[in-house]
Amino acid sequence: MARIVMKFGGTSVADIARIHNVARHVKREVDAGHEVAVVVSAMAGKTNELVSWAREMPRAAGDNSPFFDAREYDTILASGEQVTSGLLAIALQSIGVDARSWQGWQIPIRTSNAHGAARILEIDGSEIVRRMGLGQVAVVTGFQGLAPDNRVATLGRGGSDTSAVAVAAALKADRCDIYTDVDGVYTTDPRIEPKARRLSRISFEEMLELASQGAKVLQVRSVELAMVHGVRTFVRSSFEDPDAPGMGDFDNPPGTLICDEDEIVEQQVVTGIAYAKDEAQISLRRVADRPGVSAGIFGPLAEANINVDMIVQNVSEDGSKTDMTFTVPTGDLEKAVSVLENVKDSIGFDAIQSEAGLVKVSVIGIGMRSHAGVAATAFKALAEKGINIRAITTSEIKISILIDGAYAELAVRTLHSVYGLDKQ
Ligand code: ASP
Ligand code: MG
Repeated sequence: MARIVMKFGGTSVADIARIHNVARHVKREVDAGHEVAVVVSAMAGKTNELVSWAREMPRAAGDNSPFFDAREYDTILASGEQVTSGLLAIALQSIGVDARSWQGWQIPIRTSNAHGAARILEIDGSEIVRRMGLGQVAVVTGFQGLAPDNRVATLGRGGSDTSAVAVAAALKADRCDIYTDVDGVYTTDPRIEPKARRLSRISFEEMLELASQGAKVLQVRSVELAMVHGVRTFVRSSFEDPDAPGMGDFDNPPGTLICDEDEIVEQQVVTGIAYAKDEAQISLRRVADRPGVSAGIFGPLAEANINVDMIVQNVSEDGSKTDMTFTVPTGDLEKAVSVLENVKDSIGFDAIQSEAGLVKVSVIGIGMRSHAGVAATAFKALAEKGINIRAITTSEIKISILIDGAYAELAVRTLHSVYGLDKQ
């Protein structure tokens, strides 16, 4: 017998039929004797609809926060999950599973005061644990909690993954199963490379890199949290028949386990290839090479809420001028350039050059720590396809390469094959 948190995303609860299907997944685990808590998202498209309704409302004079009156924005957005939790509790009851819905504030899931983008601070799981002991399933609303001002706060888009992992940590669950519309984590995007394979296991660190480099299976923050608390997290599909053979196999169900690297026996050097579209490159030419220049460039960009990703700076030839290249999301390019124009004189550079529509391809694997030549292999393979590299950054377990958007798919396929990920 184990304790499991089961999380169902928006597409898994998209309509009433799908909610009944989810109930059958839950019943399977309850019938196997496990203690179960469920975390749900809003029905697919619901949160977007709520956001658009909020946007239609007139603004108070002088209110230019991104979330309007953030407390009311949260009141509106939190309703999506509330609906799902009630519907699923009824669906469970109708097939003989004792279930009760829980809003974030009822548990409570305590959050910071940052309405619209709150962080989970603390969860009191005692009452849920008590009821699980009596065989009752808690159906918890994801994406929300109770802020110090005693009002509902939401966690930022996609936040129900984070809710699920946090609830699993608080309940000391054996596993957090994330049910979604894909059946696991793949070596790369199967829409680009049909030979992509589902990974049976991936380490927290690799998953964190994959998620932040563009793979959209899980919210990045949920992976961070799982890593910090050591929550074994399982990505699997809700679209399979809940009673198909193997679905209830606790030790080896179909899907991908995200776990500590010690649990991964057969470690590959490279685990996956990720890509992020819509990158833009900015190069500052002949920047003064003196202390404070980087702060002078990236400080104002940060203040303008622009997320800078890759940064490449050269050592200057004569100690006085250098070039500085970095990337920002294409959507922020215009804003970034105007911020930099404004500080041009105080920083001191000759020209700004920029280009949009680039792609960042990343090779990820913890095996890189102990293997030489992984980067050289990538560069050679891309060169053979005539793909020009614009910038490179690396970490211990990742190599990211910036290239022209037109070569994205070719680069992903080339790298996927050169590291042998097509095989097996
Ligand atoms: N319903 C919320 C959203 O769409 C939270 C989530 O689904 O993770 O962002
Ligand atoms: Mg999601």
